[in-house]
Amino acid sequence: MDSTRLSERHVMVKEQLEKRGIQNPWVLQAMLDIPRHFFLPDDQHLKAYEDRPVPIGQGQTISQPYIVALMIELIEPKDSDRVLEVGLGSGYSASVLRRVVKEVYAIEREPLLLEEARRRLERLPFGQIHLRSGDGTLGWSEAAPFDAILITAGSPRIPETLLSQLKVGGVMVVPVGNREEQKLVRVVKSSETHFQEKELMAVRFVPLIGTEGWPQ
Ligand code: SAH
Repeated sequence: MDSTRLSERHVMVKEQLEKRGIQNPWVLQAMLDIPRHFFLPDDQHLKAYEDRPVPIGQGQTISQPYIVALMIELIEPKDSDRVLEVGLGSGYSASVLRRVVKEVYAIEREPLLLEEARRRLERLPFGQIHLRSGDGTLGWSEAAPFDAILITAGSPRIPETLLSQLKVGGVMVVPVGNREEQKLVRVVKSSETHFQEKELMAVRFVPLIGTEGWPQ
């Protein structure tokens, strides 16, 4: 058996991503290259390339491959970008992101998940990712402003502090709704005080828990 599982990733990229309209060649290449199974607990390895989210422990999930690709495509990543991810989880989406932009900062509130992801990322040759534990709804002010911010957990509203840490011209992608269902929203910061919001598709993320998210 192919331990890199490249053939499964070929099918994933073609059937789940390209057929649904993902076009960014760097995102497609990154998802072909990065072994998604590496980011899952042992008992979930077999499900790594299925068209759905998969449990990663602590009641959290790694997003469906298509959603990872879509969110990253929606920020229109450039190789000079500095991007913040709130909700590191397994570290998979941050790794894909790291392949397409210059710098990735990622925050995770579950210390156990953060440590697992840190160990995993240290063994992968995909470049450094800046990691921090804590409440990501408050952002990472020392590293701000960012060209883009991805929030990979569902929020009751668009977190204001994070908007303030976005560059003018920058993009935030965030699932907004209730604890069970959200709409994926793309926000462009058109000036210091103006934002253009566009609601995209219905999605289901685990809750964003924190000062500007849901209470514990
Ligand atoms: N992007 C991840 C999946 C994220 S699941 C991946 O590729 O695997 C959502 C993650 O957000 C969970 O790990 C959860 O613990 C985390 N989370 C929830 N609220 C948070 C907050 N306020 N700050 C940082 N992380 C948060």
